[in-house]
Amino acid sequence: MNENGFRGLQNADHAEILIVNTCGFIKPARDESIAELKELAKHKKKGQLLIAAGCLTQRYRELIADQVKGLDGIIGTKRWMDIIELIHELRKNPTQPRYHLPEAATIGMDEHGVLRAAIQGQSAYLKIADGCRRACSYCAIPLIKGTQVSRPVERIKEEAQILSQKNIKEVILIAQDSTDYGSDLGIKEGLATLLEELVTGSPRIPWYRILYAYPGIVTDRLIDVMASHPQILHYLDIPLQHADPILLEKMKRPFQIDKVYRMIEKLRAAMPDFALRTTFIVGFPGETEKEFQTLLDFITEVKFDHLGAFTYFQEEGTSAFNLGDPVTSSEKENRLERLMSLQHDISLKKNQSLIGKQIPVLIEGYNEGISVGRSYRDAPEIDGLVFVDGEISIGDIHQVKISDAMAHDLVAQPI
Ligand code: SF4
Repeated sequence: MNENGFRGLQNADHAEILIVNTCGFIKPARDESIAELKELAKHKKKGQLLIAAGCLTQRYRELIADQVKGLDGIIGTKRWMDIIELIHELRKNPTQPRYHLPEAATIGMDEHGVLRAAIQGQSAYLKIADGCRRACSYCAIPLIKGTQVSRPVERIKEEAQILSQKNIKEVILIAQDSTDYGSDLGIKEGLATLLEELVTGSPRIPWYRILYAYPGIVTDRLIDVMASHPQILHYLDIPLQHADPILLEKMKRPFQIDKVYRMIEKLRAAMPDFALRTTFIVGFPGETEKEFQTLLDFITEVKFDHLGAFTYFQEEGTSAFNLGDPVTSSEKENRLERLMSLQHDISLKKNQSLIGKQIPVLIEGYNEGISVGRSYRDAPEIDGLVFVDGEISIGDIHQVKISDAMAHDLVAQPI
């Protein structure tokens, strides 16, 4: 992308400015971000500027400044749009490190016309809101980003049109809580309204996908909009985090499991081919074998198409911090393994049930006689792939017939 005289490069050695978008969500992500910064600082060439951006910088400025020697600049999440000014200031005075983290309650909306989309091949992640107004007890994101700020419908529509002109085939709508989109703008049923605007405003985009839906607010209208517009994929990622009501209450998440069942029933009734992804946390304080078994029983009953799971990390500053971290690491790992093994068998059976069926696949690559793509059931990076015999043009959405299935991926023949 060319903006303000800058363009992105693949190779850090050739770049004049190195920007690391750090993650401060949980400790492993923090460690990875700091390791990457240290590595770049170690090999920094004369004249190169190294800037740390993102969540970690917003929350742990001192930690980064202390640990990464040779860092030139720090910019937080709330004023990311000041990056160009920061670079100009650093260039004027390169020997003086500059930390740009002005006090702000929420993320700024003066975006200077920057396209808030990350393009990867034929797909683009389009940011519809930033920040979160939920209070999940284990989560530091509201501390880092502040409450939700939704981007205006018109601006998102314009960006979808730009993506359509770039021939993007899949627009993935993202926010910390996509289903809360528009609440701060006073828009009722914001996500459903936005989707309707997008499918009519950019009808050439064949696939719209929604990630990060909050279980309590998948409304009937949203389900109806998803079911009635062929461009909106019959796929939702709804992180549920647990299934035991007492633990969910401690997590400060929707804990009425009967409502979760009803929501899933409605989604499946409205869209018989609906694919459901979720995420769970294992080892949250208070989770004994009994609560964990409740979670396994729930997974067995619901049969998710895709499932991600994480072990609990006690995060300072969160309201769950004071609950301690009583489940041992080895017990957490043991539960994670058991949960993933259960899901492996469910995913395999689900995938096997697709053998003989025809589905469209977005082709993303080709190698040695095999084209690789994804169906509507698979979000990029987190879900599975479809391997199709023969060479199909990259970027095509091609109808294929499923011929074999593994737990994660599918094999297909072109039609
Ligand atoms: S909804 Fe998601 S981002 Fe918001 S507080 Fe809960 S876990 Fe964090």
